[in-house]
Amino acid sequence: MPKSGEDHIRSVNDGRCVYINGDRVTNIAEHSAFQNAVRSVARLYDFQADPANLDRMTFETPTGQRASRAWQLPKSYRELVERREALVSWAQLHQGFMGRSPDHVASTLAAMSMGLDVFERHTGGRPLAVRDYYAYARDNDLYVSYVIIDPQGDRSKGTSADGNADLAVSICDEDAEGITVRGSKMLGTGAVLSNEVLVTTLRPLGPTEEKYAFTAAVPINAKGLKLLSRRSYEQAAPSVFDNPLASQFDENDAVLYFDEVKIPWERVFVHRDPACQLAQWHNTPAHSYQNYQAEIRLLVKMRFLVGLARKITETIGTINYPSVRETLGELASQVGMIEAFVYGMEAKGWQYGEYYLPDPNLVYAAQVQSQTLYPKVIHTLRELSGGGVLMLPSSLADFHDPEIANVIRKTQVSPVLSSEERVQLFKLAWDAIGSEFASRHTQYEMFYSGPRTVTTGMAFRCFDWKQTADAVNGALSPDALPASLLAGQPARLALVG
Ligand SMILES: Cc1cc2nc3c(=O)[nH]c(=O)nc-3n(C[C@H](O)[C@H](O)[C@H](O)COP(=O)(O)OP(=O)(O)OC[C@H]3O[C@@H](n4cnc5c(N)ncnc54)[C@H](O)[C@@H]3O)c2cc1C
Repeated sequence: MPKSGEDHIRSVNDGRCVYINGDRVTNIAEHSAFQNAVRSVARLYDFQADPANLDRMTFETPTGQRASRAWQLPKSYRELVERREALVSWAQLHQGFMGRSPDHVASTLAAMSMGLDVFERHTGGRPLAVRDYYAYARDNDLYVSYVIIDPQGDRSKGTSADGNADLAVSICDEDAEGITVRGSKMLGTGAVLSNEVLVTTLRPLGPTEEKYAFTAAVPINAKGLKLLSRRSYEQAAPSVFDNPLASQFDENDAVLYFDEVKIPWERVFVHRDPACQLAQWHNTPAHSYQNYQAEIRLLVKMRFLVGLARKITETIGTINYPSVRETLGELASQVGMIEAFVYGMEAKGWQYGEYYLPDPNLVYAAQVQSQTLYPKVIHTLRELSGGGVLMLPSSLADFHDPEIANVIRKTQVSPVLSSEERVQLFKLAWDAIGSEFASRHTQYEMFYSGPRTVTTGMAFRCFDWKQTADAVNGALSPDALPASLLAGQPARLALVG
């Protein structure tokens, strides 16, 4: 039986070391900075454990138990689509606003377990640890977050050249029981809410950077692990009415500092091996499978935002202006593009051993387009909203005073909504496009998959350039050139590759 929300709430009261506003938090499930986000995660688990949703949300594992489809290793197009439908149902519970919901890193770990042979091929790879941890995390339905980026210091220097032993996490000791690591990583989204964190590095490391080249899973309550939370938007949200999104879905981001954290060997997947550390991402399907999940989530979020855009224009009576319809049509085509990407990745999927997986070229194409599309969509919603998102009473409390409520009713007017409904809608709109929570989301969608130089680099490397070169070369047939021009020239003109 999959775990319940209550199981998850209990599991995070484990002595973890979380700091916020100068205090150490005792129990995140009862702290005003995190409690609603913990409940939102718990709702995901309750939803999948509901007997009515079991078929949709879970699959049968090799040991005959039901586990979350987040952990599923699809063997056919049909299984891939069934899994996507489960992920869509989960994302709809937060409208795509919890970017690192438990299905993200579950996708990473599932895909690493599909590529055990990659770990076998490298001396520093530890395939049995990967296999066993995947089964353990799946069977206990762990919420695993990850930290895979070195903190910003001096980006013009490599991690090892920085000379600061506390900046990027590295192995500082090891013995018969395991490794000990010290240093930090950015930026653990959802880490505060999760059970465990996968710590590793995404960027390629050089041969002299062996001590940074490790991958391991660490319980959030591990001795020495310190989580420094950013400001909580949930804590600053007075009510669900005033901040419907920030009050519920602030998944948090934290800097993680590993203060000599001991990690047993059975949780170490890569050990001092830069080649294996890179191969774990790109020679297994880990990197593309996790980012496929991200595009599924984005699709849900885009549908929500485009629905919001239309409702705003109905509410302020602009929907029938031709220019507004054009803008809504543009938004509709943008959500259609993300939908086409997701369905295309599946239809153009490929066989990786016994597994059927989404096409990586389209995953990377989608990533590049998504990170520029999102800020554009937010800008369009701002344009459609005008000052309506700020022409609002300060909080729900204003409705409690009859005199103020009377003025609100006279000034909050719409052809289709009551005053209260209009205020509620625009509070939702501001929380999606303009609040501090919304602004963090724009930064998230622009950067979660890496800076643009990195995502375009992946798209460049994965693209089938031969196909395009053949097309161009085919149109440059030497037969079309007059023989006189060809005299003394190479037999064939090649543009690319
Ligand atoms: C909200 C949010 C949540 C996140 N969640 C997670 C998470 O859960 N786990 C995790 O591991 N990471 C997470 N990250 C980190 C994320 O992966 C990084 O932000 C991303 O990889 C970019 O790295 P950076 O922020 O260090 O920016 P940098 O790499 O420092 O880049 C900053 C800017 O400098 C430019 N730049 C840097 N180097 C070069 C260069 N050589 N040439 C040209 N331009 C350059 C970049 O293009 C960019 O515009 C999160 C980030 C954000 C914003």
